Amino acid sequence: MAIKIIKEKCIGCGRCAELCPETFRLGEDGKSMVINEQNRDCAERAADHCPVEAIVVE
Ligand code: SF4
Repeated sequence: MAIKIIKEKCIGCGRCAELCPETFRLGEDGKSMVINEQNRDCAERAADHCPVEAIVVE
């Protein structure tokens, strides 16, 4: 299992970090990063809400 951010797509809106603060955080580059891969359900929800489809849950 892997949760990934496609950095080239991420616009740094912060929605994923709001929905799943245990899983995503905005990094110093202003883009989301994965900090924990345990909560796959939340990551899938965040992927559904990402406006640019930058979250991949494999
Ligand atoms: S919801 Fe999508 S665009 Fe917004 S910060 Fe997260 S990965 Fe980036």
